[in-house]
Amino acid sequence: MKRTRLIRLLTALALVLGALVVTGCGDDDEEAEDGAQPAGEARQFPADSTLGKIQRRGEITIGVKYDVPPFGFKNPQTGEVEGFDVDMGRYIAEGLGVEPKFIEAISDNRIPFLEKGTVDLILSTMTINAERDQEIDFSEPYYIARGRILVPKGSDIKGLQDLNGKSVCTALGSTYEETIRERAPDADLKLVDTYSECLELLQNEAIDAISTDDVILTGMIIQDDSLTMVGKPLTIEPYGVGIKQGEKQVQRFVNSVLKQAEEDGRWESTYHKWVGRHLGKREQPPTMTLQQALELGA
Ligand code: GLU
Repeated sequence: MKRTRLIRLLTALALVLGALVVTGCGDDDEEAEDGAQPAGEARQFPADSTLGKIQRRGEITIGVKYDVPPFGFKNPQTGEVEGFDVDMGRYIAEGLGVEPKFIEAISDNRIPFLEKGTVDLILSTMTINAERDQEIDFSEPYYIARGRILVPKGSDIKGLQDLNGKSVCTALGSTYEETIRERAPDADLKLVDTYSECLELLQNEAIDAISTDDVILTGMIIQDDSLTMVGKPLTIEPYGVGIKQGEKQVQRFVNSVLKQAEEDGRWESTYHKWVGRHLGKREQPPTMTLQQALELGA
């Protein structure tokens, strides 16, 4: 109890100090042009710019997952969308002084949604990689997930080496389509639209395993503790905010909001709220750069 109070106190202190630091050094920052303002003072962007148009609309549309607690989840009790990605989206909306409008973006429609203008941003457990970077732009990494395998406790699958000949579920349009095809070529890959479908199939014993990011699998274990993760991490999956290609002003602004949330303690408290408290783990914001993330798979 005492320790929790101390952590809360330290987080509050970090928030105050972070706000002071940000207020003190905002203007001569090279990102000041499109940067976020201190909390409560949204900077106005030129009316004909993308961010200016969003401000005039009073609303920013953000694609998130609806079935991936603790990152993007539509709570059936409240009807609200919640999670780490959702909170990061709220901070971006706050920085612009507009309301966030969340819509569901499954793995396979994230890029088309940005290209067609269905959404302004994607915050949907989306891994930054060079292939996707050909079609859209990304923010700096805001979270680093790792690829894992989920099975029922007691399964004879102990890792990647045991997947051949077994049925493995993952989402269409996710990075795991390629990971499983390449690294367990004899596995029977079951591709579905959403991760909740994978979970249902595993619970009904219609498949043997699920492979995707550790945080998504953690969300499944929170719902069903008869499941467990096995084997070593398969991949490193740096999450980035998806931005329509060429929108440099939006990219700079999103990066400035993420940086501010990392510096003022909001990143850490948000991580703790959605992930850390389930795992009994504290985590620092990622230090990997966008360039490093893009070079990972090269
Ligand atoms: N992070 C991976 C990806 O972007 C898997 C999670 C997901 O499908 O959202 O493909």
